[in-house]
Amino acid sequence: MVKETGFYDILGVGPASSAEEIKKAYRKLALKYHPDKNPNEGEKFKLISQAYEVLSDPKKRELYDQGGEQAIKEGGMSGSGFSSPMDIFNMFFGGGSRMQRERKGKNVVHQLSVTLAEMYNGSTRKLGLQKNVICEKCDGYGGKKGTLEKCSNCKGRGVQIQVQQIGPGMIQQIQSMCPDCQGQGERFNSKDRCKNCTGQKVERKKKILEVHIDKGMKDGQKITYYGEGDQEPGLEPGDVIIVLDQNEHPVFQRQHDNLIMKMEIKLVEALCGFKRTITTLDNRELMISSPPGKVLKHNDIKSVQNEGMPIYKDPCERGQLIIQFIVEFPENGWISNSMLPDLEALLPPREELVIYDDAEEVDLCDADLSSQQHAHSGESYEEDEGPRGGVQCHTQ
Ligand SMILES: [Zn+2]
Ligand SMILES: [Zn+2]
Repeated sequence: MVKETGFYDILGVGPASSAEEIKKAYRKLALKYHPDKNPNEGEKFKLISQAYEVLSDPKKRELYDQGGEQAIKEGGMSGSGFSSPMDIFNMFFGGGSRMQRERKGKNVVHQLSVTLAEMYNGSTRKLGLQKNVICEKCDGYGGKKGTLEKCSNCKGRGVQIQVQQIGPGMIQQIQSMCPDCQGQGERFNSKDRCKNCTGQKVERKKKILEVHIDKGMKDGQKITYYGEGDQEPGLEPGDVIIVLDQNEHPVFQRQHDNLIMKMEIKLVEALCGFKRTITTLDNRELMISSPPGKVLKHNDIKSVQNEGMPIYKDPCERGQLIIQFIVEFPENGWISNSMLPDLEALLPPREELVIYDDAEEVDLCDADLSSQQHAHSGESYEEDEGPRGGVQCHTQ
């Protein structure tokens, strides 16, 4: 029983979630609320990051489960508390350390939604990206060479200081970036400024990336295109990082290199054997059979070797195809009376049962699970000896 679920709620997972599920939830939300994509959701981005930071660390997660957010704040976290949301994001998506980022332009992270069949067969996808490139007209200089002059507004300091009187004898200085030179301290005359980039030194351009999805790649796998990110004068360009996001498949679920499916079979098939076909993700037909006389039970699990997902970088090898059988009992819950004697004669015999005369006959109803849950949450109900004690009295 966890003390509170706030961090789990932020990530949209439950307290019983696996580390893998927590990672996946963070990945989806962090990309959705990243300031590049959603500039107005900074607070949400921060909360997602904090929740992930705690729940992704087994020690912090245990502390949180026991003592809630209070326990985390009271010294569970080393030193300064939470890490910056951007550091968590960059660590997760492989953006490199802060040192590296200072010499490099910004990385761009994109999520690419792919089907399970694409990961099974491999595929090539074209992705159109907008990115900053060094302006071709001015080579990233921003204007005519040699015409850069000191900004007259800020006198080359890049900042402007406003003095405000906030009360009698009290003044406040507010320092802000100079709007005329964007904090550069230098600017071009409007006639010398590059017309193509309006002095910005970079321009937005569309770039088509070919993304190769190799056989066996997994949900959440990253493909990095080094140096394909935003360009900035004087900096090494950043990277483009593509994160694969696998769509749910209607039949197969993936678990590592295995594929899992449910197969419904009729009662007669469970008892008397059957043949079935399965269409694979590369459109082959597999035939499976259970021999006559072999009984399959509801929820029985069987596997077909080498029909799971291809192994990444070794695609001739494949995992297993795991089939869980769901036995369909007679549709409306009734079998016609006229069939019963024949059916009974065929089935293994019942056990003889002794029923005493004073046994009390009660009705068997459909279970009402909502009221059962209620009983569970009520603390003392299960320990209450009342009903059982009553029955014992009756039989003595
Ligand atoms: Zn200025
Ligand atoms: Zn230019």
